[in-house]
Amino acid sequence: MISIVVSAYNEEEVLPLFYKELKNQLNALEEDAEIVFVNDGSADKTINILNSIAANDPAVKVVNFSRNFGHEAAMLAGLNHAEGEAIICMDADLQHPPAEIKNMVAAYKAGAQVVLMVRDERKDYSFIKQGVTTMFYKFLNKFSEYQFEANVSDFFLVSSKVSKVICKEFPEFNKFLRGIIQNIGFEKKRLHYVAPARAAGQSKYSLYKLMLFSFSAITTTSLAPLRLGIFAGMMFGGFATLLAIYSVFMKFFSQPFSGYTTIIVFLSFSFSILFFVIGIIGEYIANVFKEVKSRPPYIVSEVISYKKEDAAK
Ligand code: UDP
Ligand code: MG
Repeated sequence: MISIVVSAYNEEEVLPLFYKELKNQLNALEEDAEIVFVNDGSADKTINILNSIAANDPAVKVVNFSRNFGHEAAMLAGLNHAEGEAIICMDADLQHPPAEIKNMVAAYKAGAQVVLMVRDERKDYSFIKQGVTTMFYKFLNKFSEYQFEANVSDFFLVSSKVSKVICKEFPEFNKFLRGIIQNIGFEKKRLHYVAPARAAGQSKYSLYKLMLFSFSAITTTSLAPLRLGIFAGMMFGGFATLLAIYSVFMKFFSQPFSGYTTIIVFLSFSFSILFFVIGIIGEYIANVFKEVKSRPPYIVSEVISYKKEDAAK
């Protein structure tokens, strides 16, 4: 059986379209398939739509969150609840074309344990969002011990074996799933696709959310920012030494050292670096704090399924 995991957050506009298209593709596939929808605390009619879809389709399971926990947590919950031997994660907005499922399943059948979908083109990204993304990956790849491909999306297939490894062996709170699946090993296959614009509704990732997500991904996968303090310290040390030599030199030649501007610029510059570095350390402490508390990454309020064996339970 194949499982399709779909996270949905305020997707009332696009869900009926998505479900129809997904069903068409799954029917054409002639495989036993289940669909696991994760409702990530939507405030609109998403849950009503999912309820009625599940009531009419025993292949559909709905995992309902108690509140919004974010896309990563939703995918994780989907992986945890999926029962298929291969699990495909995708977005609900048709930017991950269900037509690609057959190629992904074919790759799985040919032996791939992980199928990464590489986006060749993205039709809806603004210049700024594209810029943030590019900078983010440049930074991450330069400073992290792992390598990440810029255009690998949250559209992927993993075998149930790999899914178990992700769910059980990576107990950390902040997971950055797409990073994990790229660096988890196992037989991998890359497939290319073109992401169309969102079929309906609005993007749930604002520029702000995207930046927060990037920042959290960097500070959970790389230790480089922590070392920034050392480099900044060395740089300032060098500069201060030069300044000291210059001052002593000027003193001996009895020329008064007038340096108001130098001092002000130097001080404010070094203080800004200092606070920046303290902020970064704070971010890492916050991450450790979150891990130590070991709160659940998501809370399920109910699982809705009309499948015969599930209903009997
Ligand atoms: N999503 C989610 N929880 C959130 C934000 C988004 O489950 O807090 C889902 C959303 O419903 C969609 C997918 O994650 O299925 C991708 O979100 P979106 O299309 O808004 O992001 P974009 O494609 O613009 O990056
Ligand atoms: Mg989208």
